[in-house]
Amino acid sequence: MQAINREYCLQLDKQDQLASFRNEFSLPEHDIYMSGNSLGAMPKKAMSKVEEVVLDQWGTSLIKSWNIHGWFTLSQTIGDKLATTIGADAGEVVVTDATGINVFKVIAAALTLNPDRKKIVMEGSNFPTDNYTAQGLVKLLGNKHELVFAETEQGILDAIDDSVAVVCLTQVHYKTGRLLNMKAITEKTQQCGAISVWDLCHSGGALPIDLNACNVDFAIGCTYKYYNGGPGSPAFVFCAKRHQGKALQPLTGWYSHAAPFAFEQDYRPANNINQMLSGTQAILSLALSEIGIDISARVDAQALREKSLNMSDLFIQLVAQECGEFGFKLITPKERERRGSQVAMSHEDGYAIVQALIGSGVMGDFRAPDTLRFGLTPLYLRFVDVWDAVARLKVIMQEQTYKQAEFNQKHAVT
Ligand SMILES: *Cc1c(COP(=O)(O)O)cnc(C)c1O
Repeated sequence: MQAINREYCLQLDKQDQLASFRNEFSLPEHDIYMSGNSLGAMPKKAMSKVEEVVLDQWGTSLIKSWNIHGWFTLSQTIGDKLATTIGADAGEVVVTDATGINVFKVIAAALTLNPDRKKIVMEGSNFPTDNYTAQGLVKLLGNKHELVFAETEQGILDAIDDSVAVVCLTQVHYKTGRLLNMKAITEKTQQCGAISVWDLCHSGGALPIDLNACNVDFAIGCTYKYYNGGPGSPAFVFCAKRHQGKALQPLTGWYSHAAPFAFEQDYRPANNINQMLSGTQAILSLALSEIGIDISARVDAQALREKSLNMSDLFIQLVAQECGEFGFKLITPKERERRGSQVAMSHEDGYAIVQALIGSGVMGDFRAPDTLRFGLTPLYLRFVDVWDAVARLKVIMQEQTYKQAEFNQKHAVT
């Protein structure tokens, strides 16, 4: 195969149908941003949105804003937009709370549909908050449930049988970037009479998802990664229509009540997606998340997927071509249909190499003990950025700059 050069990458950018989306984001001029899988980039409209909500709405209309600026139903309004990106219908998604909190709600709700079964299947190597939260819930429920941790797609399928109550999995693995087969796993889950919960943190906004075509029961995910919703922006919850008003979640705050402003003494669940809410929303963050979600709702998901895979293929090829001698080991599956929108590799000096890369203007991140992660976000990354990132990596490895003391100091966030 002929060696790839920078010219070829520039050519790919010229042919890129999604290229214009980059103009909708504000990015530091000399940096190459490859952490969009952790914190999405800032849409240019973010600042004017903050001004609008703070000055024009809060500062001017005050409490009237709940009605006249739609604050009271903002979770649902933005949820309906997000729904179009995950194959859900209007009225099946709300944007609210943190992912971890929503994990708690949906696993608890799912368990109520299967009261006689006690097993919850999860992936042991999952992003910890989902598993920690499930452990907290099991404890709260009196340790009557059993968490079954499986690994690999086959291991997960094998763990699902007629004794399982709930199967809660993350579609794209946060570390390796591996994509699970949602349709096959959900099918097996439901054949066994169990309830499916999908965490879409690393797939929502990154690839086409069709929850209803897969007949998924519940899903959750965050909006600050590929949806570019802003730091700590609220997460989302999907509850299939058939479960609304029936599978109740336990954080039964007034927003989940059938008539919040009736101020009744006793709880009555809303008979719709509102039952997944708990309390008053963080309006500023919520309103801000709408800009990025709007962008995702406009983009053609197939074109996004194609570009994302082409970019990660390019990254993998370039690391092999330019940095083949430096001992990087690819962790992400090579097969296109088995990976999300990031590339992970391992290296024993991974932490220092990531720090040196950041020093050179390439923002990737590190996950213990030895994983370098690079998010390939097709909305604002160019093919030439992939070339330039690998070129800088090559220099760091050749000159061993990562061995400098400044790149070996541990920071709280890696
Ligand atoms: C990013 C991520 C989260 C984040 O949870 P928070 O509650 O927002 O801190 C949870 N689960 C997975 C799988 C993630 O990738």
